[in-house]
Amino acid sequence: MRYKFMRFPGGKLKAVTLSYDDGIKADLKLCEILNKYGLKCTFNINSGSMGDPKKPNKLTADEIKTHMLDMGHEIAVHGESHIAPGIADPVRAITDVLNCRRTLECEFGIIVRGMAYPDTGITRVDGSNTVENIAGYLKNLGIVYSRTLGGDNDSFMLPDNWYAWMPTAHHNNKNLMEWAEKFVSISLENTYLTRQYPRLFYLWGHSYEFDNNDNWSVIEEFAEKIGKKTDTWYATNMEIYEYTEAYKSLVMSADCTRIYNPTMIEVFISVDTRNFSIKPGETIVI
Ligand SMILES: [Zn+2]
Repeated sequence: MRYKFMRFPGGKLKAVTLSYDDGIKADLKLCEILNKYGLKCTFNINSGSMGDPKKPNKLTADEIKTHMLDMGHEIAVHGESHIAPGIADPVRAITDVLNCRRTLECEFGIIVRGMAYPDTGITRVDGSNTVENIAGYLKNLGIVYSRTLGGDNDSFMLPDNWYAWMPTAHHNNKNLMEWAEKFVSISLENTYLTRQYPRLFYLWGHSYEFDNNDNWSVIEEFAEKIGKKTDTWYATNMEIYEYTEAYKSLVMSADCTRIYNPTMIEVFISVDTRNFSIKPGETIVI
């Protein structure tokens, strides 16, 4: 064996995920478009304003349950009151994350471990804060990943740091359609062996921007272009995280002929261009 690469469920080379913030009414229209093309989104919710009658633009818990969770989308922490950890005092930011997590879990009877940094997030870090310290307390609060922003790029790589998960693009990026086209056209044919790693397209934004800019056509066009492809897995942020961590948990024999899957998730791999699946608890010989 020379090289082993992760494949997404079903042996697929590519995955697409979305991340939309603030839990606002325009998300309902976004859900309809994503459902039409089979895309999955993680919606980042501010627990403090969810269903607030003084903020009619915010989604209610019932709307989140019916239009998001029941439709296969996901919710994640976005701070009880939208506090940026990079510039807030740590105890203030910790309270904001923990209260948000507890409220969402209690309201919906689920476990919530994902997050998108609110406001300026970790793009500005002041006072006693450091990016490492923020990641450290998020880990202690049970958060396993957090999305950052401001580094759009078309590498389509999975993150090397889950606490600074950089998306591919915001939907207003002028290169969006070009990059989506490039992503769709990636195939293993004519791809050198060392470059046969999996690819992820991660789109983010706020659905109210489509109303403000009168450009819902952008997300329609994107979803139509990138949706319903047989070589692509459409997943939420947490599904991507859990699957990738399962892949990282695989155990290999010293002579590289046996691989053991100690997780509860079936994992797909490619070994020197040959595809294998390893069921939970299974050891395969390659
Ligand atoms: Zn926000």
